[in-house]
Amino acid sequence: MQLEARNITFSYGKRKILSDLSFTADSGEIIALLGRNGSGKTTLLRILLGFLRPAAGEVLIDTRNSLEMSGRERAKAVAYIPQSSEMVYAYTVLDTVMMGRAPELSLFERPGKEDKEKAEEILEDLGLTHLKERSINAISGGEKQLVLIARALTQDAKILLLDEPTSALDYSNQLIVLETLEKLRSNGYTIIFSTHNPEQALMNATRVMILSSNRTPFIGKPEDLLDGRILEDLYNRELCIKRIDTGRSERIICIPR
Ligand code: ADP
Repeated sequence: MQLEARNITFSYGKRKILSDLSFTADSGEIIALLGRNGSGKTTLLRILLGFLRPAAGEVLIDTRNSLEMSGRERAKAVAYIPQSSEMVYAYTVLDTVMMGRAPELSLFERPGKEDKEKAEEILEDLGLTHLKERSINAISGGEKQLVLIARALTQDAKILLLDEPTSALDYSNQLIVLETLEKLRSNGYTIIFSTHNPEQALMNATRVMILSSNRTPFIGKPEDLLDGRILEDLYNRELCIKRIDTGRSERIICIPR
């Protein structure tokens, strides 16, 4: 599915956060969203999700204005995946994932056999079956993040918006989450994730968007960042950005000079 932001402008009171922002995210793309704290990443994700209404501009999902869609239709197209640390209720993993079926159900209708089978199938795909009866609070942060991704997939949404999906995770779990996103991308999902790690944007995204409070947003390919200028400007640091051959694949690293 295609997600398009067209001429989005948004302010909190007098404070302008986004100004005339336009971009398109297509099926099979991962867009990494970089920006300093307060640059508007979360605000943008909320607008794309339909939680916040822009002052001007529109969000189109497969060319349809998302605000003209019902909440249920929108939920079947776009899913928001919060940081794993935001889950507070002690549901089981299976129940958490089944909540993704809510947009399919009418008010007070309980999930049925098919909903359970769908949730179980997705848990299996993500290698989480062994955790299904555990409380969401009794699994690791990385597993929790994967469970939240599973919930979004159970929702049937093909556009996934993730707010700093790796921020609370150890390195190994970060890699698992990023590899899962890559698998979903290659299966045609449209993914946008925010991150504070420029290497993730360079290595794991097909395109990068950089928000900044005093500059026009940058949208381009990871290769466009190789000369370092844009990231040095963003972080106000001299950086060394290099392509390296790991022996198995070509990667891009970013380290301070
Ligand atoms: P980021 O996710 O990049 O850190 P946010 O989108 O959360 O940035 O916030 C952008 C700016 O808007 C910040 O300066 C933040 O303080 C401000 N902001 C966020 N939410 C609100 C709100 N509900 N009311 C007023 N200002 C807000």
